[in-house]
Amino acid sequence: MREFVYEAQPMRVVLRPGASVTAVPGEVERLRLRRVLVISGPRGAETARAVADALGDACAGVHAEARMHVPAETADRAVEVVRAAGADGCVAVGGGSAIGLGKAIALRTGLPLIAVPSTYSGSEMTPVWGLTEHGAKRTGRDPSVLPRSVVYDPELTLSLPVDLSVTSGVNALAHAAEALYAPDASPPVSLMAEEGVRVMAGALPALTAAPRDLDARGRALYGAWLCGAALGATTMGLHHKLCHVLGGTFGLPHAETHTVVLPYALAYNAPAAPEAMAALGRALDTSDVPGAVRDLAGGTGVPRSLAALGLAEADVAVAARLAAEQAYPNPRKVTAEGVLAVLEAAYAGGRPRTDF
Ligand code: NAD
Repeated sequence: MREFVYEAQPMRVVLRPGASVTAVPGEVERLRLRRVLVISGPRGAETARAVADALGDACAGVHAEARMHVPAETADRAVEVVRAAGADGCVAVGGGSAIGLGKAIALRTGLPLIAVPSTYSGSEMTPVWGLTEHGAKRTGRDPSVLPRSVVYDPELTLSLPVDLSVTSGVNALAHAAEALYAPDASPPVSLMAEEGVRVMAGALPALTAAPRDLDARGRALYGAWLCGAALGATTMGLHHKLCHVLGGTFGLPHAETHTVVLPYALAYNAPAAPEAMAALGRALDTSDVPGAVRDLAGGTGVPRSLAALGLAEADVAVAARLAAEQAYPNPRKVTAEGVLAVLEAAYAGGRPRTDF
């Protein structure tokens, strides 16, 4: 018998085409909110306005100023706007950046958050917040930032370009992969993670071939939900730490970095995580998990190496040192040489080795 602890995350989920407009007003009402501020990034402003229009009098305004990695001044400004508008809750419409701003507001004010995701980042499923100040990103866990309700609308994601869809989808796979070997994994979370990988890996080629395929878009959002829930329930390892360093210190783009690094991080961890690799192998229908993960982004024009993402070669060693000197759980011992080998391979971007 395997012993474990599992903590359910209290939240309601609605998934259906059109739900951003048809379901959000009902979710606001269920939470007994009367004046919600709709948050988005600048590119999502039009969608945010459509959500605001559907809310009518229950909308206190639209604040379309979310930025990647939630700069502290962006959070300060949003909190001022929330207070000035007398809002009693927020609806975050967009990717992880918009939801991240919604979480920062929830953290500071305690106001409830409804999330309407437009990417596959999975942030909506986690109690994890992030804030960037003086060039460094801090993250933490707080139940108050977990959205009370998540509204998945596949129609919102029709406009997500194929390259962003694929990298965001692989970002979701990374959550599930690391959840499978996390020290606090549990059987129900592993079920969600394995199924999340299966669903997402099936949806990505379909939406790459036909980006406006609503069914594939819906399946990808469902996969993102399962993978995000796995992320929210567990502690992440080497892969997420590497991406945190590469994004936080070197400014590399979030989902693209996950897509480049994941095959090599998995190849490194594979010998120490046979059960997780077996689950990933079943979900991806392969005996070569790192290779199959790398192939998911093939043929889509997505950058395939850290060099292509613009990392300077001299920074590979610096990033390796930063990632190796921190403490975090990982199935395989994290050594300075091991991390450097993973990052050198990701920098070059070839087929993942099996002998890290
Ligand atoms: P993002 O939210 O920055 O979106 C990426 C780009 O895609 C943006 O330019 C955005 O305008 C555009 N976009 C989003 N949805 C679109 C759509 N449907 N159509 C067209 N364009 C669209 O990126 P992301 O990858 O979703 O999120 C990354 C951020 O989320 C990072 O800051 C990361 O740290 C955070 N994150 C947090 C968690 C967590 O649990 N706290 C989990 C995952 C990611």
